[in-house]
Amino acid sequence: MADKKNSAEEKKDIGLYEKLAERSRAFIKEAEEQTVKAVGIAIDKAKEEMVAAGDFSHEHGERLKTFLQRDLFLSLRDVSKAEDVAKEVLEPHRVLAGIQGLMASTLETVGEKLEDWAAKLEKDLNFKTGEITAPGTLSCKKCQKKIKMHKMGHIPPCPECCGTEFHKGY
Ligand SMILES: [Zn+2]
Repeated sequence: MADKKNSAEEKKDIGLYEKLAERSRAFIKEAEEQTVKAVGIAIDKAKEEMVAAGDFSHEHGERLKTFLQRDLFLSLRDVSKAEDVAKEVLEPHRVLAGIQGLMASTLETVGEKLEDWAAKLEKDLNFKTGEITAPGTLSCKKCQKKIKMHKMGHIPPCPECCGTEFHKGY
């Protein structure tokens, strides 16, 4: 008798747990959309402030903004990949199933947002000689030679073939 009661209570608890996870998912999705918007607004605000202060012209600011967005996009994509790995490691723990579902849907939303962003930035992901970028590894599109950028700076021409177009490693 007691066992039956326990299992009914347990079932109810699992149901409530799932409802809580489901509702949380909806709110997390909302929060993420706000975050992506907020990042865009923040970069614009910083840029406008610097234009007003005379740090650079509107056009120059727009150009640097594009480079910053591109680097941010790549670092966000790295983070979501790292979380994917964490999810795989957690897989055997049955107890975490609900949390995993939550993480998976969170990653999905972030992933979708990043893809939207990536589509917009696709041509900007083509790194060119003379552009500014954060540290990372660039690969020449012509000869595949890798160039390591140890600090923020202008992209040099390819030391191997003088190529001027690169992919960035991630
Ligand atoms: Zn090259």
